[in-house]
Amino acid sequence: MALKIVFDECTACGDCEPICPTKSIKPKKGVYAIDPDTCTECEGEHDSPQCVDVCTVPDCIIPLK
Ligand code: SF4
Ligand code: SF4
Repeated sequence: MALKIVFDECTACGDCEPICPTKSIKPKKGVYAIDPDTCTECEGEHDSPQCVDVCTVPDCIIPLK
């Protein structure tokens, strides 16, 4: 299970990058992207996805599928 960042919604604020416990968020093509191979949706580490909690843009970070 993984989340993804909607490129058209991301403002590239960078707030989500440092709070990801699995270091899955990296700059990509001027915005940010989540590595689906390492994103755990924060399971086992936090009660909710930390990137979703910190992102101020509605519907910017959504389920991969
Ligand atoms: S859901 Fe958690 S593990 Fe996945 S990218 Fe967001 S902060 Fe990182
Ligand atoms: S917090 Fe949201 S808007 Fe900011 S870089 Fe991350 S996904 Fe993009």
